Amino acid sequence: MNPTHFRRPILRLGAALLLVAALAVPAPAWSAGGFVPGSPGLGDPFFPLAGNGGYDVTSYSLELGYDPATRLLDGKATIGAIATQNLSRFDLDLRGFDVSRVTVNARPASFTRDGQELVITPQIGLRAGQPFTIVVSYAGIPSVITDPDQSIEGWVPTDDGAFVVGEPQGSPGWYPVNDNPRDKATFDFRVTVPDGLTVMANGVLVSQTSSGGKSTFVWRESLPMAPYLATATLGRFDLTQYRLNNGLPVYIAVDPTLPSASVLKKLPEIIEFYTSIYGPYPFDAAGAVVDDAKNVGYSLETQTKPVFDRVPDETTLAHELSHMWYGDSVTLTLWPDMWLHEGFATWSEWIWSEHDGRKSAHQYFENLYNTPAQDTIFWTPPPGDPGTPVYLFNGTIYNRGAMTLQALREKVGDPTFFRIMRDWATQNHYSNVTTPQFIALAERDSGMNLQHFFDVWLYQPDKPTSW
Ligand SMILES: [Zn+2]
Repeated sequence: MNPTHFRRPILRLGAALLLVAALAVPAPAWSAGGFVPGSPGLGDPFFPLAGNGGYDVTSYSLELGYDPATRLLDGKATIGAIATQNLSRFDLDLRGFDVSRVTVNARPASFTRDGQELVITPQIGLRAGQPFTIVVSYAGIPSVITDPDQSIEGWVPTDDGAFVVGEPQGSPGWYPVNDNPRDKATFDFRVTVPDGLTVMANGVLVSQTSSGGKSTFVWRESLPMAPYLATATLGRFDLTQYRLNNGLPVYIAVDPTLPSASVLKKLPEIIEFYTSIYGPYPFDAAGAVVDDAKNVGYSLETQTKPVFDRVPDETTLAHELSHMWYGDSVTLTLWPDMWLHEGFATWSEWIWSEHDGRKSAHQYFENLYNTPAQDTIFWTPPPGDPGTPVYLFNGTIYNRGAMTLQALREKVGDPTFFRIMRDWATQNHYSNVTTPQFIALAERDSGMNLQHFFDVWLYQPDKPTSW
């Protein structure tokens, strides 16, 4: 994500209280045959009810119909999963919509709604290790979701379609989902819209057909994707397709009402540069979706094709493309570790600039480091401990996060630092990580004790002075 302006909302007392929201307590094992309900959340410190326990999703197949004139979304989600415990019932996350039918393994299942929880009780309990298929039919006008920092996400209507973004909690605003970054899955999209509109989802374009005044776009993301990185942004777009030298398909969609987006010509060069320092590009497609959705106020690294709410500048393009490695392929386990995405993407802006012969990463660091220690708005909260979801996308997560990496680079030297960055991307591709894992890797690759270094840079609220 890259905000047009960093937000720093007022911390309300209530936000602090949210933090004590307890981990979901496991249900008692009194159910017949040892089949118990899956927990309604996975205990994330910031979003305790996001995601659900008792199963792992392996695939989503989303059949959607949308008409911007009525704003009505008609959906059928087919979800493949594996039970991780003997399950009597389980939850999906879904916000709003009328759910008309749910089946589990082709048998009608009973269901209830409780806030964002869609609680599903199959006719027969699901045994641990057993694969099963859920089908949810739903329809309604999606409601835009407002985050703790007051930014908006989900299925956001535009003049000609919708800008679809899900970080950190917008996905249940358009499909039933196990909405936790830890539960990655493959995605198929079959989206039908009025003729003249284009649907841009993740992965590879499988087909595009038209019939009866409607167009259907089929996209397939066959590599693991965290649910919040899904998109089906649609509207009037000029769609250009080409291949990189290595055969990677690139899809560039630009709203024709926008001024020229010639900056996108830099995309191959930026991807090539990051590949040279971070390791192989992790996905089987690349691209960008440039929409006119300025009320959103940010761009997002939706997997394979970041979406931009306006024509991006080169820095923002470089930022979002670097997230394919750090954020999309290598994904946080818990939301408070957001600096593992945004600190890395901000530092990636700097190293792209340095590579391009403009301002160096060291100069970026120095300019920021000159900020006086008294400027607590700049220095706090520390990037490793945002404290509340209100500060999830605070400026420090980006700036101090990137400064942490540049300070590490200058401490361990370029050869070791670039080995750390590459190892982090290649050893953890398609999986989930934590800050302590990054510290352990940095210590392993450098042979240095870096506990004090990371404590000062990531966890202490004051301006670092010695490290
Ligand atoms: Zn970002």
